[in-house]
Amino acid sequence: MTEASRTGKRVLLAKPRGYCAGVDRAVQTVEEALKLYGAPIYVRKQIVHNKHVVQTLEAQGAIFVEENEEVPEGATVIFSAHGVAPEVYEQAKERSLKAIDATCPLVTKVHHEAKRFAAEDYDILLIGHEGHEEVIGTAGEAPEHIQLVDGPEDADRITVRDPNKVVWLSQTTLSVDETMETVARLKKRLPMLQSPPSDDICYATSNRQHVIKEIAADCDVVLVVGSRNSSNSVRLVEVALDAGARAGHLVDFAHEIDDAWLAEAGTVGLTSGASVPEELVQEVLAHLAQRGFTDVEEVVTANERLTFSLPQELKRDMKAAAAAAQG
Ligand code: SF4
Repeated sequence: MTEASRTGKRVLLAKPRGYCAGVDRAVQTVEEALKLYGAPIYVRKQIVHNKHVVQTLEAQGAIFVEENEEVPEGATVIFSAHGVAPEVYEQAKERSLKAIDATCPLVTKVHHEAKRFAAEDYDILLIGHEGHEEVIGTAGEAPEHIQLVDGPEDADRITVRDPNKVVWLSQTTLSVDETMETVARLKKRLPMLQSPPSDDICYATSNRQHVIKEIAADCDVVLVVGSRNSSNSVRLVEVALDAGARAGHLVDFAHEIDDAWLAEAGTVGLTSGASVPEELVQEVLAHLAQRGFTDVEEVVTANERLTFSLPQELKRDMKAAAAAAQG
């Protein structure tokens, strides 16, 4: 009999978890820019919403700023994975900044949808969280056409110019179920409401929610590795609780796990948000193993193979530098 089966302590490890293609690309963009241009490299906002990632890049020479005005004229600035409004590009131009855009292509897709529907004079209902950087960026594409709908309750206060010409779009990292609830509520008042041409909630968000739903009911506690300002990580805790987990907690690091959470637990579910490096999950597994949770079963509901290439402007400079080095 193994130690784990004697103690009845096990971990259900969700897969997919952790880094998505957009985060991977954004982090690589900063790393490659540091290699190519040298430190410091300025990054507008947190490149991805994860404390550890930001601290690691800071140690390599990245300087995180809130706005373009904090970047010295002529310096290089990288825009985060969450996307920016068009005025941010304008400001960068005015300050002669060399801008590299690390916006996730799946966020850019939503920007394109917003621009297209605005050009066709639709009222656009953008489902998302007020104040989130992605929502600010998307809304900035067509502020006169876009209204924010922050959850199902918000649906009742919406007014539109023409109920026959209205479409909903969404932030990429929402709860799939809650979004559908919001849409259903909107549709009660606006039966002709159109849906986005393709899902705005991205594959990574839905895959991570799907697998945690599969295991949640078997878990005494679900641990989600992720930062508090990471929308998709926060949603994972909510989804786990809705799907039957007895308890759920968000932690940035293993040392934040309170032993009291594990005291009565037999099964611990473990996952991580789309901006979380795998090493942090491995540290949590080691932490759990020290407390008797040595039986780890990975529950796999999808295999993700999507990758995105680096931003064009960076690839161009990398190619030129490689050519110059050769000869
Ligand atoms: S969570 Fe989705 S939208 Fe956000 S960076 Fe990852 S793939 Fe892109």
